Amino acid sequence: MKSVKIENVSKKFGQIHGVKDLNLHIKAGEFFTFLGPSGCGKTTTLRMIAGFYYPTEGKILFDDLNVTKLQPNKRNIGMVFQNYALFPHMTVDENIAFGLQVRKLPKAEIKQKVDRIRGLVHLSQYGKRKINELSGGQQQRVALARALVIEPDILLLDEPLSNLDAKLREETRIEIKRIQSELGVTTIYVTHDQMEAMSMSDRIMVMENGNIKQIGTPQEIYNRPSNRFVADFIGETNLIEATIDAVNGDDIQVKTANGLVLTGRKQQSSLTLTHMIGDKAFISIRPESINQGTGENTLTGKITFVEFTGVSVNYIVECIDFSLKVMIINMNGELKKIGEEITLNIAQDSLYFFRE
Ligand code: ATP
Repeated sequence: MKSVKIENVSKKFGQIHGVKDLNLHIKAGEFFTFLGPSGCGKTTTLRMIAGFYYPTEGKILFDDLNVTKLQPNKRNIGMVFQNYALFPHMTVDENIAFGLQVRKLPKAEIKQKVDRIRGLVHLSQYGKRKINELSGGQQQRVALARALVIEPDILLLDEPLSNLDAKLREETRIEIKRIQSELGVTTIYVTHDQMEAMSMSDRIMVMENGNIKQIGTPQEIYNRPSNRFVADFIGETNLIEATIDAVNGDDIQVKTANGLVLTGRKQQSSLTLTHMIGDKAFISIRPESINQGTGENTLTGKITFVEFTGVSVNYIVECIDFSLKVMIINMNGELKKIGEEITLNIAQDSLYFFRE
C-alpha cells in the first residue's frame, strides 16, 4: 500500500476546467472518497491517479515516486469501473486471472492467487461460471477480485455500486469495506452518494466545480461543515441566514432578518476573528438536533407538514422568518397535526456557523 500526493494539479479540457489546483494527501491504507455532484471533477481526478489522463499542471506522487506522466500499466493500481468492464464470454476465474496472465506469472501461482481472492469476495463456488450467468452483485465482486488479485498498491473504485439495486448496494458496501480493511489496501472511491461516502470512508473530499469544498472524516464533514455547500450536500439540514449580533466569551449571538436571536458556541464555527459584529453568517442546524419543548434557543412556529416514519416524526415548522425541518426521534406524547403550534428548542452546541 502506498500514499498518494496530489500537488497543485489542474486538468483542462480546452477551455473547460475539469479540476483546479488540487492539493491532497491520501495516507497509505486509507479508505478515501471523492464525493460531489455530477461534473464536479471526481472522475477526472481518479483518472489522473490511474494515468488515463495526464494533468495539465501539477504533480502526482505514489509515496515519493513521481507518477505524473507514468503509463497506467506501470502504476500497480487496481481499478473497478461503474460497468465492471468484465469479459462476458469468459469464466469468473479467467476474468480474475487476466491481469496475472498479462504479467506472465507461473500457472500454479495464478491458480493459488485466484482461489484465494475468489474466497475473499465470497465466490468460492463460482469459478467456472460465465460472467453472463451471474447476478449484478456477483459480477461486481468479480470485478473487485480482478482488481485485487494483482495485489495493487492502490485500489481505485469509480461508482462501483451504481448499477445495483438499493438492498444489494447496501450489502455490497459492507462487503467492500470488509475486504478493504482485511487487505489494508489504499483505496480511493468515487461516488455522488453521500450515504455510501459516510458509511465507508476514513476521510471524504467533498468537491464542487473542480474545487475542494472540504476534506475530513465523515463525522467532521457531517458535524462541522465548513460551508453551505457541504452542509447542504451531506444529509438534511436547515440553513439559516443571520447577522452576527454579539460575541460574548465563548458564545456567538446572531439575529435573523425578523429579529429572532439564536446563540451558539464559538468552537462550533468556521468563522475566524476577522468576522465582526454586523457581518453576515450562515447557520446549519440538523433536523435531528432540534427538540420539542423549551430549553436553549426556544422558538415557536406553526406545523405545515407531518410525517411519521416509525423511527421518527418529521415536521416542517414555519417560524418567524424561516421554515425548519425537524426530526423528533424520542417522541413524548401525541403526534401534532398540521396547523398546530409547536415549541422547539435547539441546544447551543447544535448550531454550526460559517461565512459562505
Ligand atoms: P459524474 O459524477 O457525472 O461522473 P464527475 O464529478 O466525475 O461527474 P468529471 O467527469 O470529472 O465529473 O468532469 C468534470 C468536468 O470536466 C465536467 O465539467 C466535465 O464536463 C468535464 N470533462 C470531463 N471529461 C472531459 C473530456 N474528456 N472532455 C471535455 N470535458 C470533460
